[in-house]
Amino acid sequence: MLTEKSTEKTNRVINYLRLSITDRCNLRCVYCMPEEGINFLPHSEILTYEEILHLVRLSVQNGIRKVRLTGGEPLVRKGFINFLTSLCRIEALKEITLTTNGVLLKDLAADIKACGICRINISLDSLKAERFFQITGRDYFDRVWEGIQEAERLEFNPVKINVVVMKGINDDEVLDFARLTLEKPYHIRFIEFMPVGENNGWSPQKFVSTREIHEYIGTLGNLRPVRSNALDGPAKRCVIEGAKGEIGLIGALSNHFCKKCNRLRMTAEGHLRGCLFSDQEIDIKTPLREDKGDAHLLNLIRQAIKNKPREHGIERYGPRKCVRQMSSIGG
Ligand code: SAM
Ligand code: SF4
Repeated sequence: MLTEKSTEKTNRVINYLRLSITDRCNLRCVYCMPEEGINFLPHSEILTYEEILHLVRLSVQNGIRKVRLTGGEPLVRKGFINFLTSLCRIEALKEITLTTNGVLLKDLAADIKACGICRINISLDSLKAERFFQITGRDYFDRVWEGIQEAERLEFNPVKINVVVMKGINDDEVLDFARLTLEKPYHIRFIEFMPVGENNGWSPQKFVSTREIHEYIGTLGNLRPVRSNALDGPAKRCVIEGAKGEIGLIGALSNHFCKKCNRLRMTAEGHLRGCLFSDQEIDIKTPLREDKGDAHLLNLIRQAIKNKPREHGIERYGPRKCVRQMSSIGG
């Protein structure tokens, strides 16, 4: 039976599952996945597609209505389109979205659209090929840009572009990205750089707050706020007067959106996680593989929702590094 909604101790409605389907990636973004020293999971430890589908069906019974596929890079996993086709058959899901680095998007975009996916997030931290290479360790700027254009051509709506802003690295491109919305229907989402994973290069000196970003963008024109809906994430949205696209500001560190956080995460190895910044996890894969039964698994999902931390505590205790790499949690 479907429950209307699933709330936890502070009455937040948890309806959004971020699902990491692989810890592998074809880029090596400096803030996410170091070039060396990453211990990838053995394939046998990664949830199979059948296992993921089973757990999503159970999550839906606990109020999940939106799923975002992420990783690592979701498009590198073999059989992705068949999996997506099956996921899209789960009727109670109101929204399925995808976050991708765009490297393989040009070739897969039409199949993704044919599955019924209309919204897509593509990560791109620089509009300059050489800088893209410095940030990602790979010379794939053109491929990603072609992927973005293909998504636009196929009328994904919206095409969201995620930009992690880092002082001294790409903060001089904030206005260039914002200007893109004047001509293109893109939703540019500026994300605060987060201290996630060992050695991800985070330091207070590299941090740029969404307040500062908002101020830069304000120099381009009048910024009109846009209201968000119940399944929207924590982005503060606005439009530059007369623009075709819009701007989102994700103040993961500076802006205390924990009170409104509607997310649950599942890692590629099948651990449920209530908060990006808390290393508390519930292993749901082991009982699934031990055939403990759906009632037990449903209970674990309920527990993960119930035990979701009230807040990440960063304002109070200062930035803490979370131990896992971002690529294994899914961003
Ligand atoms: N590989 C896909 C991609 O890059 O879009 C999906 C996974 S990635 C972990 C999801 C999102 O997390 C990306 O937009 C990425 O830029 C963002 N991200 C990764 N590490 C981050 C960090 N330390 N701070 C802020 N955002 C981060
Ligand atoms: Fe890969 Fe995405 Fe992490 Fe970059 S941010 S290394 S593309 S998982």
